[in-house]
Amino acid sequence: MTLAVYPGTFDPLTCGHMDIIVRASALVDKLIVGVYEHPAKQPLFSLEQRVKLVEEAITGMSNVHVKAFTGLAVDFVHAVGGKAMIRGLRANSDFEREFEMALMNRKLAPDIELLCLMTSSQYQFLSSTLIKEVSKLGGCLEGMVPDHVAVALKEKFSTSNGLAMNKNKL
Ligand code: ADP
Repeated sequence: MTLAVYPGTFDPLTCGHMDIIVRASALVDKLIVGVYEHPAKQPLFSLEQRVKLVEEAITGMSNVHVKAFTGLAVDFVHAVGGKAMIRGLRANSDFEREFEMALMNRKLAPDIELLCLMTSSQYQFLSSTLIKEVSKLGGCLEGMVPDHVAVALKEKFSTSNGLAMNKNKL
């Protein structure tokens, strides 16, 4: 059985991430979306919230599962018995970073293969950071994030109190 892990911060999940999830899940027997808890980063959504948003998005996709993890992604892949890691590529800047990480990961865990999927052109401009920026300013996110993610973002930024609390988390 081929098990792959798609690790990321997913703060929050976007349609660009979903596109990678759908396409990767068609290539492997089982896909685990690994939601990363960065000890030094202050995400907008808590780890539990990010996991829940992915969980809701993958409802009905029988070979896709979600798990939280911390520490090295390669250790997480080993822990779940994975053979491959999935990443998405948007632009040159993604490539450079992914290439660097891939070489390091190969050194750490030569048995894990990396599969990079090119973004679909309609999602090339999409990033979680930009989504938060647009949402904070009240922009329409239709077609950029799943509906329940748009609702969650709206809730986060709905009160001026929330705005003040979250302004440093973009
Ligand atoms: P990171 O893991 O770098 O914190 P994210 O959680 O945003 O970043 O993304 C997880 C993975 O999904 C990364 O490989 C990233 O390049 C990829 N990704 C993010 N947005 C898109 C998109 N719009 N299209 C394709 N891949 C994407």
